[in-house]
Amino acid sequence: MQVWSFASGSDGNCYLLESEGTTLLVECGRPYGQIRDLVESVGLDLDSLGGIVLTHAHGDHSRSARTLSHTHRIPIYASHGTLGALRLGDPALVKPIESGKTYSVGQLDVKPFAVPHDCREPLGFRFESGTGRAAIATDLGWVPHNVARQFRDLDLLVIESNYDPHLLHTGAYPYFLKQRVSGTYGHLSNAAAGEAIVACHDRPPNLVWLAHLSEQNNSPRHALQTVGRILRRHGLGHVPIKTTHHRRSNLRWTSAIARERQLPLFA
Ligand SMILES: [Zn+2]
Ligand SMILES: [Zn+2]
Repeated sequence: MQVWSFASGSDGNCYLLESEGTTLLVECGRPYGQIRDLVESVGLDLDSLGGIVLTHAHGDHSRSARTLSHTHRIPIYASHGTLGALRLGDPALVKPIESGKTYSVGQLDVKPFAVPHDCREPLGFRFESGTGRAAIATDLGWVPHNVARQFRDLDLLVIESNYDPHLLHTGAYPYFLKQRVSGTYGHLSNAAAGEAIVACHDRPPNLVWLAHLSEQNNSPRHALQTVGRILRRHGLGHVPIKTTHHRRSNLRWTSAIARERQLPLFA
């Protein structure tokens, strides 16, 4: 399994996930041309995508869904609430999915789980294949038990680490927006991300990417410091943490099994 972070934040989210020939675009909140270039930059092309997976209908996650899906005949996997809000039109390309079920897409199992966020039926995802296990959860106000359970026994956890409370409350956002961001249907703080990792107890992820960082109310330094401190306090200082970039492709992860299988190519 391989995962790329192409972009992550309120300006647009996009990740790519590949396992044994099955490729999924997770979120498509950047402009169409940029997503096409990013997919081609890793040696893949949009016509070969197995699907687009969307967490929710907010524009920073779904902006190019209609164009991508219609132009390249790519099915879209999302909740009824998300699909209804996007009004995609072509029933042949629409794949409604529900929290708690497992969907096989090529070599990948997609396991959606409900998250608390201010839109209709938002989801997070756990992806499993013979070569790895990863989960992506951004845009959630807090981490309920059913969500925390999905973070155990992962190779890679991509979790929102949206804001530092001090930067948010002393920053330029209007009062109502500060309330929205920090509310139960808003976004996760750095500390909440750290606590969610700690809640895995003795089954923490092998690697964590902190994602969807606010440009106004957070910084990579704040996120890494806060989450790192919480992990060390609970004996999890060995878990590596990295931060995604707002508009750049900056992280790529390849599972150990996938690396082993690739090795003969380079021998
Ligand atoms: Zn978002
Ligand atoms: Zn959102």
